Amino acid sequence: MNYVSTRGAVPALGFDDVLLEGLARDGGLYVPAEWPQLDSAALRALAGLDYAELALRVTWPFLGGAIAEDDYAELVRDTYAAFDHPEVAPLVALGRDEWLLELFHGPTLAFKDYPLQLVGRLFDHVLRRRGQRITIVGATSGDTGSAAIEACRDRAAMDIFILHPKDRISEVQRRQMTTVRSANVHNVAIEGTFDDCQDLVKGLFADAAFRDEVGLSAVNSINWARVMAQTVFYFWAALRLGAPDRPVAFAVPTGNFGNAYAGYVARQMGLPVSRLIVGTNQNDILTRFFETAAMEIRAVEPSLSPSMDIQVSSNFERLLFDMVGRDGARVAALMKAFRDSGRLAVSGEMLRQVRQLFAAHRLSDPETLAAIKRVYDDTGQLLDPHSAIGVAAGRACRRPEDGPLVALATAHPAKFPDAVERATGVRPALPARLADLYAREERYAVLPNDLGAVRAHVRQHRRATAGKKRGVA
Ligand SMILES: *Cc1c(COP(=O)(O)O)cnc(C)c1O
Repeated sequence: MNYVSTRGAVPALGFDDVLLEGLARDGGLYVPAEWPQLDSAALRALAGLDYAELALRVTWPFLGGAIAEDDYAELVRDTYAAFDHPEVAPLVALGRDEWLLELFHGPTLAFKDYPLQLVGRLFDHVLRRRGQRITIVGATSGDTGSAAIEACRDRAAMDIFILHPKDRISEVQRRQMTTVRSANVHNVAIEGTFDDCQDLVKGLFADAAFRDEVGLSAVNSINWARVMAQTVFYFWAALRLGAPDRPVAFAVPTGNFGNAYAGYVARQMGLPVSRLIVGTNQNDILTRFFETAAMEIRAVEPSLSPSMDIQVSSNFERLLFDMVGRDGARVAALMKAFRDSGRLAVSGEMLRQVRQLFAAHRLSDPETLAAIKRVYDDTGQLLDPHSAIGVAAGRACRRPEDGPLVALATAHPAKFPDAVERATGVRPALPARLADLYAREERYAVLPNDLGAVRAHVRQHRRATAGKKRGVA
């Protein structure tokens, strides 16, 4: 299996190189050169497997033999054995033909654990085999950071730097990152927005000399292996609800578009996904795109669902690549226009085609609170604000012919206790593994929104240079 860049200006690479590279050197994102196919018989053979076995079978074709099958099997089983729920991702009935897929039973209580716990192990495996070390730099709007830190902490071959927008993530989210006491974990609060953090990371990647000097790598949602691991959600839920003999619709609360795009990948592989309903908060660039065929940047406004406070959805470029017939030069031109003018438009015909699969819906903060309350009143289920946006978007957009609807619950309600309490009067308790979070000591640096400052900080603190002094390998 080879991977090509969405901007078409670099050679194709194998899985392990794509894993370590993250962003392609032409600024594009890697996608598989072709989609592995699972026909109805192959899908039926997957029904009834447990989560880890299913993950192994669904993702294996993407590795193209880059890792020995036995090693990969062990790594996948080890990944999901560490989750808190015996089913890993339980599917809970919400209403008539309406389901909630709980993706918050990992170490940091958000869905990003599902891909990142696997990706951390993949990195470690490939690096050890190659005798290499790397510096991971990522931007987080809240949940990616802690999930990435949990996936990479204490691994000898990696340092991890996570940039978060200062005072713009919840206290639980910040503490989950800043209380990790591992020598290879470096938290940085940036005086700016999440998009500023993301731009800083892109700026570091654009500096080829620096990139080589520190062995820069990414685990944020542009990393292909994360998308790959997320396709499993869709197979897991749809197979339980009657696929391949029945189509299934999904509602996905969306920011960087990684999770929703993974649903698209599952469908490209042959899973009968009838619809992908994208839910956004007032930072609604994607909803506006699916309404108007134009992406237009606006300022980011803080919301009750901070992990979706994003105006540039990185993974959208992967869908765009397919929309323009996999013409990398065309994607590069569109992305340049977007960068220069803040606007990107596709034809009405292209929009009509993607809307056969995608629908989108936005919720304001008051609507999000009302959605949390409504589900709680009807079912007793507490939803975090992100998950509530998914459920409400699904309800707003689903059509009778779409089949059962699965809403992805992307965070545990206790990660956003203030919003949940405001909506329902009930304050969700943190699960046992995080019960003493507020008593743990925090550690992080604060830096201005300045590329030079961030570059200097990474140089100074990564262990490859400072390690001998501090006595860590
Ligand atoms: C990251 C995140 C999202 C958005 O996922 P994308 O893949 O970036 O679209 C939604 N909800 C929660 C809780 C998240 O952490």
